[in-house]
Amino acid sequence: MNCPEKENNLQNCNCSYPCAKKGNCCQCLLYHRKMRQLPACFFPADEEKTYDRSYENFVRLVQAGKI
Ligand code: SF4
Repeated sequence: MNCPEKENNLQNCNCSYPCAKKGNCCQCLLYHRKMRQLPACFFPADEEKTYDRSYENFVRLVQAGKI
């Protein structure tokens, strides 16, 4: 199912991974949540590119003041 907000959502999507879920934020969030991860848009561009979307990496970046 495609989200009716897909085009708007894509304007706020910084994900650099080729993925069919781009712009379908509910699918994206559910996918990552099941793996104890957060979507790309929770990370700054340089960290997003590492594809480490784990909760642990997110907390580390917050504690380092990068988020
Ligand atoms: S954050 Fe993950 S699920 Fe979302 S578009 Fe990027 S790779 Fe796909």
